[in-house]
Amino acid sequence: SVPLGFFAGIGSASKNGVLIKGSNFLEALNDLDTVVFDKTGTLTEGVFEVTNIDNQSQMSDDDFIALVAAVEQNSNHPIAKSILSYNEADLTEFTLSSVEEVAGHGLKAKVDGRDVTVGNMKAMKALGLEITEKASSGTLVYVAIDGTYQGVITVSDKIKPDAKKAIQRLQDLGIQNLVMLTGDNKAVADIVAKELGITQVHANLLPEDKVAILEKLKAESHSKKKKIAFTGDGINDTPALTLADIGISMGGLGSDAAVEASDIVIMQDQPSKIPTSIEISRYTRKIIM
Ligand code: ADP
Ligand code: MG
Repeated sequence: SVPLGFFAGIGSASKNGVLIKGSNFLEALNDLDTVVFDKTGTLTEGVFEVTNIDNQSQMSDDDFIALVAAVEQNSNHPIAKSILSYNEADLTEFTLSSVEEVAGHGLKAKVDGRDVTVGNMKAMKALGLEITEKASSGTLVYVAIDGTYQGVITVSDKIKPDAKKAIQRLQDLGIQNLVMLTGDNKAVADIVAKELGITQVHANLLPEDKVAILEKLKAESHSKKKKIAFTGDGINDTPALTLADIGISMGGLGSDAAVEASDIVIMQDQPSKIPTSIEISRYTRKIIM
């Protein structure tokens, strides 16, 4: 049977905008020693803006963006949304075929007979293109047309206003391992981690790499009789949300799949609700023991 105090704890969490799907998860929060974060949409807003266009093609910048936007129409990634909202051209003019999205890479399509690939360095490497990584504070969307490099678009995201405080409070609560995982490039990952005070950062990850790292961290945590939480927002995050002892999702802008796969839902996407939930859990344990 569940001690009554847990219902009070779950009620108190819900008043704080945190949905806890069972008293076992509220209790498990007491034993956390590791909290793993996805970057985009979890620690950052997940809303990108085009901040630079380095167009090496013969096309005008507008035509270059339109071609990229034509391909990105087929993606739900927040990067795609930023390029589509920047574009002003009529995309119905383009004829697309063989559209293919590759998780952790980007996507490719045949557009009016040209093979267009848009994505990160991994996507360019898969085409056999050797490009020197541009130093940038933003996420880089490389563009190749018919197998040749044609330029790079920089898109930028913002750190959530309460993310830094959230990390500080978790440290104050004695949570020893705070880890950030991302499919984004290392330069961006390092800037975000430094700003937030997170020292364990893994970048350039494919969805399966995130799961492999989480598995290793989970084993380490369990060997100390501790528990691990993973916090994410995307469809890509569902395997990690399921694997962690406590999966925490962002219920506002997060995907339905992530909310479904998680044990705790933060209704308005604030990372600071994680330390708040741990505090509620500790208080609840104190009053029922
Ligand atoms: P994350 O949520 O950690 O950013 P993803 O697996 O969604 O991880 O994406 C990893 C990287 O793959 C992105 O940072 C980007 O470089 C590239 N990418 C994914 N989808 C797209 C897209 N639609 N357009 C351009 N690049 C993309
Ligand atoms: Mg994300």
